[in-house]
Order: sequence, then structure tokens, then C-alpha cells
Amino acid sequence: MSTYPAIACVFGNPIEQSKSPIIHSMFASQFNLPLQYQKRLAPSDGFALSADQFFADISCIGANVTMPFKLDALQWVDTLSSQAKRAGAVNTIIRQNNGFTGDNTDGVGLVNDLHQHNIAVNKANILMIGAGGAAKGALPALLDAGINSVAIYNRSVDKAQALVRHTNRYANSKARLYDSASVQVFDIVINATSLSLQNELPDLPDSVFVNQPSVYDMVYLNKPTVFMQKATSLGCTMAVDGLGMLVNQAAQSFYLWFGQRPSCEPVYLHLRDLNK
Ligand code: NDP
Repeated sequence: MSTYPAIACVFGNPIEQSKSPIIHSMFASQFNLPLQYQKRLAPSDGFALSADQFFADISCIGANVTMPFKLDALQWVDTLSSQAKRAGAVNTIIRQNNGFTGDNTDGVGLVNDLHQHNIAVNKANILMIGAGGAAKGALPALLDAGINSVAIYNRSVDKAQALVRHTNRYANSKARLYDSASVQVFDIVINATSLSLQNELPDLPDSVFVNQPSVYDMVYLNKPTVFMQKATSLGCTMAVDGLGMLVNQAAQSFYLWFGQRPSCEPVYLHLRDLNK
């Protein structure tokens, strides 16, 4: 739908650090779209009111939603996409003629970035480290991309157990708990925790890298994360950070709003440059 100039925003708390305005402005300029993209700081207990106020303007075509509002957004929208339903979280709101749809583009962003790095997802055996919003968002798209299995490890075991149960409701028993008692062979190891931001490693044995898997850290910094460094030191030749996921999830949101697929590469290179 299109009432121009279109307005979109990202809701979060905090929000100052968000790169979404840069990303979406660059996408919009690829198509000469007059998009105004705003950062919106919502009070931590006030997402619904903030969303009501923003969308009262008919020019507001959609929004991104970041921490801590992905569950509030799930409640706020009228309908959910299959990705959002399975992820249990909404990071993209789309205005439609009959109301608002909630979607989740994190997983598609991850899978597209894995493909862009020539990391084969189909039939892969995956170790997912983390059971928070990022892991939940990633799993539906990984399963849609044809992975063979996913083992889930998390510091809080109850959350990992809950995620295994939730995932297996739609994943044909492809999810299981990571079992530290036996050596398991993985093709892709994904760090979906925030640990690298504190320069810390998950409490896992080196044997998770025994097959020299491709390694993906959803965190991105101005240098390889400690997790990427660890994997490389153990012989893994492919270690990627989450900047490409960030750009690709935004590209999927942009597509949902405008039906146009922007090119991610120039935006990725620009952000990498800013991040130096
Ligand atoms: P959540 O707060 O929902 O989950 C945090 C996860 O990290 C949980 O699994 C938590 O374990 C784990 N964790 C945090 N601190 C520790 C610790 N000290 N020791 C062990 N485990 C820890 O956050 P999200 O899932 O939304 O995000 C996780 C990371 O992924 C963030 O850094 C975020 O920036 C990044 N991300 C990147 C994206 C991208 O596009 N590149 C997209 C989305 C997220 P526990 O359950 O035990 O607390």
C-alpha cells in the first residue's frame, strides 16, 4: 500500500544506537522512494499506546520493532505471518487495508546472509547457542530452508527446553537439547546470545568445533568477535558476524512494505565502513 511520502519507524528502548534509519534511507534511495524513517523511543510499558499514536497517521506504512517490544508487538497486531507465529515474536509491522500484520524477518535475514556467504543450510546439522528472541526468530526460517537438525544450548536450561518443545510443534522433531555428554558433529554453529558484546564465550567444549563448522555470531563489532576468534583458532575457516543479518532482515521488512527487493551489498559495505 502506498500513501507518499511514506513514513516508517523503528520502536525500541533504548533506540539511539539503531542503524535502521541509515539502512532504510539507503534502500529507499535505490528506488527513489520518498521514505521518512524515524527512531521512536517507546516507554518500556507503553508500546501499544506508542504504536496507536504512530499509526494514527495514514502515511505511516509500517514499523520495525526491536528490544524490548517484540512480544508487545505480537499482541498489538491484528494478524500474524507464519514466521511471526512460529517465532513467537514480531519485528516488522505492515499496515494493510484491513488492519496490521506482524511478521518476523530476523530468520530470513540470517538465512539470506548464510547464503550470501555460501554456507549451505539445506540438510545442515546446526548448533543454536541461545534461546532468546534472536534464536526464536531464526529457527522458523532455518527449518524452512531445509536444515536436518538443530541442537539448542542455553545457559538457562529451562528456556532451551521450552524452545525445543515449541519448535518441535512445527518442526517434525528436528529440534533437541544440546547434550554435553557426547561429541556431536555440527555443520553450522550459531551464537544467538549477546555474550560477544561482553567479550565472553558460551560455556561449551571445544568439541563443538570438531567438524570445523561454519560459525555465525549474531553480534557484530568493529573486529571479529571473541567467538569468531575462538572458532578460527580451532581451525574453522568460515566465521561470520551478524552485520549482514541486520541488513538482510531490514531488506525483508522493506520488501514487505514496498514489494521491492533492495540490494544489500552497498548498505553492508557502508555500515562496515562506519563501524571501523
Ligand atoms: P535476549 O535477551 O532475548 O536473549 C539473550 C540470550 O543471550 C539468551 O539466550 C541468554 O541466556 C543469553 N545470555 C545473555 N547473557 C549471557 C551470559 N552472561 N551467559 C550466557 N548466556 C547469556 O536477546 P536476543 O535473543 O534478542 O539477542 C541476542 C543477541 O543477538 C543480541 O546481542 C542482539 O544484539 C543480537 N541480535 C542480532 C541481530 C542481527 O540482525 N544481527 C538480530 C537480533 C539479535 P539466558 O536465557 O540464560 O539468559
